[in-house]
Amino acid sequence: MTLRLYNTLTRTKEEFTPLDPSNVRMYVCGPTVYDFAHIGNARPVIVFDVLFRLLRQLYGKEHVTYVRNITDVDDKINARAREEGVSIREVTERTTRQFHADISALGVLPPTVEPRATEHIAEMVTIIERLIASGHAYAADGHVLFDVPSMKDYGQLSRRSLDEMLAGARVDVAPYKRGEMDFVLWKPSDDNTPGWESPWGRGRPGWHIECSAMSWKHLGEVFDIHGGGIDLVFPHHENEIAQTRCAFGHGVMANVWMHNGFLQVEGQKMSKSLGNFFTINELLADWPGDVLRFNMLRTHYRQPIDWTLKSLEESWRILEGFFATAGSAGAEQGTIGDSVLEALKDDLNTPKAIAELHALDKPGHQKELGETLKALGFTGNLASPKAAAGVDAAAVNALITARLEARNAKNWAESDRIRDALAAMGIAIKDNKNGTTSWEVKR
Ligand code: AMP
Ligand code: ZN
Repeated sequence: MTLRLYNTLTRTKEEFTPLDPSNVRMYVCGPTVYDFAHIGNARPVIVFDVLFRLLRQLYGKEHVTYVRNITDVDDKINARAREEGVSIREVTERTTRQFHADISALGVLPPTVEPRATEHIAEMVTIIERLIASGHAYAADGHVLFDVPSMKDYGQLSRRSLDEMLAGARVDVAPYKRGEMDFVLWKPSDDNTPGWESPWGRGRPGWHIECSAMSWKHLGEVFDIHGGGIDLVFPHHENEIAQTRCAFGHGVMANVWMHNGFLQVEGQKMSKSLGNFFTINELLADWPGDVLRFNMLRTHYRQPIDWTLKSLEESWRILEGFFATAGSAGAEQGTIGDSVLEALKDDLNTPKAIAELHALDKPGHQKELGETLKALGFTGNLASPKAAAGVDAAAVNALITARLEARNAKNWAESDRIRDALAAMGIAIKDNKNGTTSWEVKR
């Protein structure tokens, strides 16, 4: 089967044909770096990492360019720096480092290019100048706005009515705006806000123009795949499309638009006020990265995912089973086996792919199972991070000695009690033939 992907633009699953098979090009909107990334943010990162791995296998490693940006200019970042009394750079550098550490623990490959918005201001200014010159944007009061009515087919991606768009965009009413839907390309900065010199005075870019500039710079005027979470369809992606198409005069910005569904926790919207908000970093203190990654892929990317403790526990057990069969050895860089590959080629059907992994979990298929797991980004490191970090080895050894003494005295009740106490600490013990006992941290 050829690769088929669901395209939000056409609302259908389509056969994927790259513009240039020797350079398949994908852009995914990256994080705004002002705080720890939460587990919902991890979803697009993991989903599009799987797509990146799939494309690399189908077209060759050297023939895929994956761009995932860092949004390092944003008013939320400015506010955070002000709150903490530190520089903006300190906030963005620290948060970017944290993001990299977190997602690398989730088995995510670095993208081919990871552009930062602050390094692409010149490209943003160029696009804005082109939009003004072609009558799609206007400067007013230090701002530059995109003139939405100037684009006849604005709204193709989200297919919303004007009323819905107005509600969804939460548009500001501002005296310098000609139309209600017009959105900001550039805005003025005061002395306490980061800004760059521009033809419209000292200012900073709006959010949407950042992605138009970075995708243009690294992937060209038209490219193959653009991805992100479903919440970005409107207004962010709709506005990226408007900017890029009107600046360069093509019928599309990207041929395929892909969006992951939202993640909720134990059936509820994740929110700080409900106390069910989890950063990737917090979860990594309790769960191996492999388990978080696997749990994310058990639900098809377009469906909403319910993130539950029960499902995480199951994911851990399933992976332990797979790696017990496959062993942790194997090729440095595996290849995705045929049956799993076929599942992924069907719009990244990861639940089906996991069913195929189960089918490989039997004698005679260890090698294929191991290689496929590796190719999908799993390391096989399933030790409990918390237990490993918190274990007092001396205390464990003392308990094991006490248990051996109890056994020698045939005090089975006491020896069982100690074994249970160790299990409660997350320690699994193994009695060896030579009369010694070894132990390992389970979870
Ligand atoms: P943000 O930093 O809010 O712009 O989000 C970064 C990425 O995470 C975007 O692609 C969002 O669509 C995605 N995202 C944010 N929250 C969730 C969630 N709860 N579930 C799935 N994806 C999310
Ligand atoms: Zn974007």
